[in-house]
Amino acid sequence: MRFDVLTLFPEMITDACSHSIIKRAIDTDIIEVNTVNPRDYTLDKHKKVDDTPYGGGAGMVLMAQPYVDAYEAITKLENSITLMMSPQGEVFDNNLCRNLSKYEQVIILCGHYEGYDERIREIIKPKEISIGDFVLTGGELPALCVIDSVSRKLEGALGKIESMEEDSFENGLLEYPHYTKPREYRGLKVPEVLLNGNHSLIEEFRFQQQIDRTKARRPDLYEKWKGNNS
Ligand code: SAM
Repeated sequence: MRFDVLTLFPEMITDACSHSIIKRAIDTDIIEVNTVNPRDYTLDKHKKVDDTPYGGGAGMVLMAQPYVDAYEAITKLENSITLMMSPQGEVFDNNLCRNLSKYEQVIILCGHYEGYDERIREIIKPKEISIGDFVLTGGELPALCVIDSVSRKLEGALGKIESMEEDSFENGLLEYPHYTKPREYRGLKVPEVLLNGNHSLIEEFRFQQQIDRTKARRPDLYEKWKGNNS
């Protein structure tokens, strides 16, 4: 899968993608992450990419020309989707993440400052994605959330020691709690059932933990899961 990220701060993307599982996914050609800087496409002699808002008000608005030209310069693959990182978009979740993992190319527009000139939306017609009801300074961190979580879904991205199947949300529930050595730490013991090697009991215990956790922490998810499993 190929990610093309339109950003005024390309190092934020390349630096963050040069570690751990995402770096390995790039090194093994499971994903490719390219950046395109709208500043390289501005026709302004001072390389300006933003300006004051018509109608007045605080902040600087990203100009349409550099963004649209940079976007149009990207080679589009057949199975491609364009996302705009925006607090006004559809809230990103595991279903959306899974759907995105089916594309061959994901193009991601990152805003900054006060946001985009509205005509960028009107011309490019991207799918707007928010990572939650709060406002960040730029779209780079949300773009990285998308790249990271979508990459985990791709075959071969996670090695043998990592796994996705039992992750939170995969079966509609939060994941069960984990324990590792030692058996006892500061008086807290690992649940006995995990030590006895009885796999069906372990499975039963973990499933019940998933249900209890989800019910306590995310009643909204629990109700949805119950509705789908009754
Ligand atoms: N003035 C805009 C508004 O209130 O809707 C917010 C602009 S924000 C300071 C600058 C950029 O950060 C946005 O254009 C977007 O790319 C990104 N951004 C901020 N919060 C975000 C969120 N919750 N999800 C996705 N992107 C976000």
